[in-house]
Amino acid sequence: MTKKTVGYVHLEWECPSCGTRNKGIDKVCRNCGAPQPDDVQFEQVAQEELIQDEKLIAQAKAGPDVHCPFCGTRNPATADQCSQCLADLSEAKAREAGQVLGAHQKSAVPDVACSFCGAMNSGTALHCVHCGAALPKPGRPDPQAAKPQVKRATGMSKTTRFVLFGILGLFVLACIALVILSNRTEEIVGEVEGVSWEYSVQIEALTPVEDQEWRDRLPDDAEIVSCRQELRRTQQNPEPGAREVCGTPYTVDTGTGVGEVVQDCTYEIYDELCTYTELQWRDFDLVSLTGDDFSPEWPNPTLSQDQRLGEETETYEVYFATDGRSYTYRPDDLSEYTQFTEGSRWILEVNALNNVRSVTPEQ
Ligand SMILES: [Zn+2]
Ligand SMILES: [Zn+2]
Ligand SMILES: [Zn+2]
Repeated sequence: MTKKTVGYVHLEWECPSCGTRNKGIDKVCRNCGAPQPDDVQFEQVAQEELIQDEKLIAQAKAGPDVHCPFCGTRNPATADQCSQCLADLSEAKAREAGQVLGAHQKSAVPDVACSFCGAMNSGTALHCVHCGAALPKPGRPDPQAAKPQVKRATGMSKTTRFVLFGILGLFVLACIALVILSNRTEEIVGEVEGVSWEYSVQIEALTPVEDQEWRDRLPDDAEIVSCRQELRRTQQNPEPGAREVCGTPYTVDTGTGVGEVVQDCTYEIYDELCTYTELQWRDFDLVSLTGDDFSPEWPNPTLSQDQRLGEETETYEVYFATDGRSYTYRPDDLSEYTQFTEGSRWILEVNALNNVRSVTPEQ
């Protein structure tokens, strides 16, 4: 995030002795003459207008004011001697600075009535134009209104929760039942009544495949279809050609009675995103040979120039007849498959789901 300075605005402070609001640049109270204590914070004025006075801006940039260690009076950071008691300021303590005071208040404020004489005054005025009495700050949040809002917890109703737990419970029970059923086995004697094999080969073809990529990362053989400007990344620092995106301006205490209005900005870099096509090997066709003997063969398809052979799969099946039922068993490879001669007898381990888990020759 880059902090951008929008400008500088006047702040104000409230005298703790008499309650008068004073301009930020006033170092002592206009009403009672008391110096601003170091623990009395600056506040935003009701309507902030950017300062044009270069001297004031330079003062705000020079660093936070310091408080005289002897009489407590506020002095500019650049001063060597206290303006009030002439004491040496080299040991003076600087005011706190950098606190965020709030969103920059640009909009006009309504007029305020003097509580002393009733005259109407501009919302930005500190003192009544008619009688000189201190004016209250317009729009200051009423402490009565700032009651915490009670948020109602939003949750699932009891019924919904009950149903959800019920469904979950049934699902768990079903899983447990399935595991038990597939593990409980019984032994049955079966006679081989038939076999079959299937050999398959995938044919792959070079196929144009559409994809998207930034222009500088396109594959060498890419055929560009179209390109458009898209957001590629967001970075913290400015760069030529980047799009600046800034947040709401807010006012920060500089410790000088003047506030700095800043904005947090990020920078969006746009780039060319292209749609392109590229030739890639993709599944095109599957060719298979099947048989019911013990001499399987691989299919041998004729390939065109942009085709090649892909994955090969071999599957074998043996069919057993038992008392009243038939079972299918799938040997892993050819050497196992060729043992199942027609009429040979085997002991089948069958689980409760009627799947053959293993077979052993009957002695
Ligand atoms: Zn005062
Ligand atoms: Zn002093
Ligand atoms: Zn008045």
